[in-house]
Formats: sequence, structure tokens, C-alpha cells
Amino acid sequence: MLLLNPGPVTLTERVRRSLLQEDLCHRESEFFDVQEEARTRLVGVYELDPAQWQAVLMTGSGTAAVESMIASLVPADGKLLVVENGVYGERITAIATQYGIAHAVVKHEWMDAPDLARITAALDADKSFTHVAIIHHETTTGRLNDLRALGEACRARGVQMLVDGVSSFGSEAIDFDDTSIAAVAATANKCLHGVPGAAFVVTRRAALATAASRTYYLDLKRLATLQDQRNTPFTPSVHAYYALVEALRELADEGGWKARHARYAALSEQVRAGLAARGMASVLPREESSVVLRAFRLPAGIDYPKLHDALKARGFVIYAGQGGLSKELFRISTMGDIHADDVERLLASFDEIAN
Ligand SMILES: *Cc1c(COP(=O)(O)O)cnc(C)c1O
Repeated sequence: MLLLNPGPVTLTERVRRSLLQEDLCHRESEFFDVQEEARTRLVGVYELDPAQWQAVLMTGSGTAAVESMIASLVPADGKLLVVENGVYGERITAIATQYGIAHAVVKHEWMDAPDLARITAALDADKSFTHVAIIHHETTTGRLNDLRALGEACRARGVQMLVDGVSSFGSEAIDFDDTSIAAVAATANKCLHGVPGAAFVVTRRAALATAASRTYYLDLKRLATLQDQRNTPFTPSVHAYYALVEALRELADEGGWKARHARYAALSEQVRAGLAARGMASVLPREESSVVLRAFRLPAGIDYPKLHDALKARGFVIYAGQGGLSKELFRISTMGDIHADDVERLLASFDEIAN
């Protein structure tokens, strides 16, 4: 079965085999070697300076990393502006609400790009905002939100950005030189091609200095402090860390994030062109889409469950639209061990279903 959903991904054999390494006690030096290699390689994906940046690991899914980032990096007296244009932006608002973090929302229709004028107006109207939260790749629609323009607006106002990079870290450009970026949250099992269970926040060390402690398990500062001392507060998902390290080695061997970007770009274009030729239009233009995933209009006369089941019977798992989009859209991600011949077989399967 090939997974064309936005994570977890189809594993390479190399990463799958890495799960079979020896059992480790998480209080032994062998485990801390694994943890250190993962953290060092994560900081290395975008060639960051380890004196300024730190990768903080945790056991959980991508949402754990996002929750840890939001609950920790908005200071106790801080205020968060959430940019929402999809499910994952809405999730950040839910997290802020749950923790009682002072916040406001600039809400958009799910199909729309963030409106910079509305965001800057909100920031200018209330000088108490310290942070803006934004989804980099809004997986709801496949839209790649423009971090550069928002970063400029934030820098001009001395506001920091907290980025959900869960479905972009490792394959899309992220300008860590942008001094407004305080942290990026992500996970092992999307663009990095690891297994679910390991998530992380790449954070500026300086941002930890003003961190709040609102959560016990996901307290980013405690995790960061202990990990810097080759320590861990809890039992990590050791095998997920094995897989993350192997996936990061594989990413480096394959040429790093830029090579992965190029590979995804070619695959997603192959899917787009193939489906367009079969009458299924991509929802967003290429220049607004990530290379990771694209959303397509359902063909006339076939509903999603039928399309899903017919493709699954042929070895492919695709993904539904979320919420109100479930009747209109389906989504195809080309993360993981997916190649051009797989996309050819996928397109041939669409032909079979249509006939
Ligand atoms: C997948 C995803 C998440 C987190 O999902 P989990 O199921 O918790 O791993 C968060 N944000 C974005 C943008 C995502 O694509």
C-alpha cells in the first residue's frame, strides 16, 4: 500500500530496517547518542548555527510540537495573534484557548491566502501582541503561506513569529535568518520520512529565555534544558528516534532539503498534469501551492468514498478534504518513498475507475 495522505508516509526500507536496532534504556549513554544525533541533524537540515538554535525533541505527534511551542514560547504576559486559513490555524487558536493564553485571530476562508493588510492592521491596533502564529504549509488546502512578507511586517513591529512547519520542514524554504522567526514546530513522519512518535521544535535559544511553563509534559524549556545536558525527563519513543536519525541520514545522503524540494516538485507536477488531463483541476495555482501536497476537485459523478475505496483497492491511500471541503476535494501528497512510476500507476488507476 502506498500512502499518499499527508503523513504518516510510506517508509523507505532503510528507515524501516532502522526500527530493528537493539533495545535501549533511555537512561543509558547509547540512547543519548541517538538523541544527540537527531538534534544535531535537525539543526543541520537548514544549516543553522547551534549557538543560536536548538532542536528540542519530544514524543508525540506534530500537534504535540505545535502545542509545546505555543504553550511555552508565548510569555506569561505575552499575547498571540493567530493567522487562520485552515484546520491547522484553527487548531492553534484552540490550543491558545485551552491554555488561557491571551490571543486574537485573523480569520480567513480556508481557500484564501493570509491578508497581510488585515494582519498588520490587527497588530497596529493592539500593541500588546508579542507573537504571531502562522501555518507555513496549510495542509487543509495545500497552500504555502508566505512567511517572508509576514516576517517583514513582524520585524518592523518587534513581534516574533511561531511557525507550524509540520508539513513543510525538510522540503520547503524556511528563512531562518529572518530574525522574527522564534521557532518552527515539526514532526518526524512528514517531509523527513521518519515514523510517527517523534516531534520537535527548532527554537531560537534566546526565545527560551522568556518561555512560560503552562504545560507539564510539553514544557519546551525543561525539555530543552535537559536535552542540552544529555538527559530527558520522560521515556521517549526510542524506536521512533532511531527512525528519525536514519531518515535524517538518508535526507543528507540524498542532497538535503533542496533536493527533496526538487523531487516533490517533480512528483506533484506529475500528479497535477496527469489529473488535469483527466479533467480534475488543481484547486490552487502552482505558485500558491506547496510541493508537498495538492488539493484537487472531485470529478463529476464520483463521490470521495467511492474514489478512495477504488484507489485503495489498487494500492493507494489518498486523503479527503477536511470539514466542509470533504464533498468538493481530495488531496494527494507525494511525501515518503514515492517515485515517478508510482504516480504513473496512480494515474492509470484513475483511468480504470473512470471507465
Ligand atoms: C499534520 C499536521 C499537523 C499535526 O498533525 P498530527 O496528526 O498531530 O501529527 C499540524 N500542522 C500541520 C500543518 C500538519 O500538516
